[in-house]
Amino acid sequence: MLIVMHHSATDKDVEKVKNTIRDMGLKPVAIPGAERTAVGIIGNQSWIDDGPIRTLKGILEIIHVTKPYKLVSRDFHPSDSVIRLSRDVKIGGRSPFLIIAGPCAIESREQIFKTARFLKKLGVPVLRGGAYKPRTSPHSFQGLREVGIEILDEVRKEVGVLVATEVMSPEQVELTASRADILQIGARNMQNFDLLREVGRTKKPVILKRGLSATVEEWLASAEYILLEGNPDVILCERGIRTFETATRNTSDLSVIPLVAESCHLPVIFDPSHATGKRSLVSPLSLASVVVGAHGLMVEVHPDPEHALSDGPQSLTFKGFEKLKQQMDALLEFMKTKLADR
Ligand code: PEP
Ligand code: MN
Repeated sequence: MLIVMHHSATDKDVEKVKNTIRDMGLKPVAIPGAERTAVGIIGNQSWIDDGPIRTLKGILEIIHVTKPYKLVSRDFHPSDSVIRLSRDVKIGGRSPFLIIAGPCAIESREQIFKTARFLKKLGVPVLRGGAYKPRTSPHSFQGLREVGIEILDEVRKEVGVLVATEVMSPEQVELTASRADILQIGARNMQNFDLLREVGRTKKPVILKRGLSATVEEWLASAEYILLEGNPDVILCERGIRTFETATRNTSDLSVIPLVAESCHLPVIFDPSHATGKRSLVSPLSLASVVVGAHGLMVEVHPDPEHALSDGPQSLTFKGFEKLKQQMDALLEFMKTKLADR
């Protein structure tokens, strides 16, 4: 249940609501929002009789939520969330379509600076690059880890780009949050609940990738963990799911982009690189994501994909990325035009 307080409700009114919930043997959580304060009840499994609460002062609305998430739902926050990534870069709602691009992994200072300068020249605001890499085999390149985080910090300061990078465990969050602009939770960690709580305690926007076999409900429940800790800035990222099909690395589930938007106010982006695993499919799927309503794209680009230490086959070359960028510009322009009248 979610108790939405009137904007004129006082701290005393909120306290009274919380105490009444405690008297009912339940656990209240106050959720201060930009638009209004709400008090959520967590841990309850069944229907709650709102009788003792209904008559209290300062209450605007009581919402009975039966889903495993509340704060991410449009019941609580009807309008689209817009997340500010910097003074002039935003994502969500009607903000301009955002491209996040860069290599799968930070491999060297030279590789990441080269990519950052290339993207900066094209006006791409966010550079991605993993320092902590979740690899299927322990024999594969594991990332430059803390050294990679320091390189990322240098590149962000020297080139003037925002940087997004993955955290794999709660212990990595403090250092990474002090150096990066955006934290990424990878597909394999979508249900690492302690990690979700830890990024929820930071003030950095979080890209939450959908788990390899996660349902939409599980994905949104994971986002809820982050919001519950006080961080409202979650960007959902669809990156393909496991199915019987092996012709592509994953099966792109573009349907979730408009589906999620029906019940959830958070921005959703698409990762065509991991969704397909195949360079030639990255551009067509990127374009499709715009049409189904994605707020942005996270795409892997490498100066020399043939020699990349991870995900080379799905990484665009600089030339390929430039072409995609032109196609995206043309499509976004085209979508502003109307259908011709007869
Ligand atoms: C990545 O972004 O490089 C990555 C590891 O992605 P995912 O978690 O979606 O597999
Ligand atoms: Mn990758």
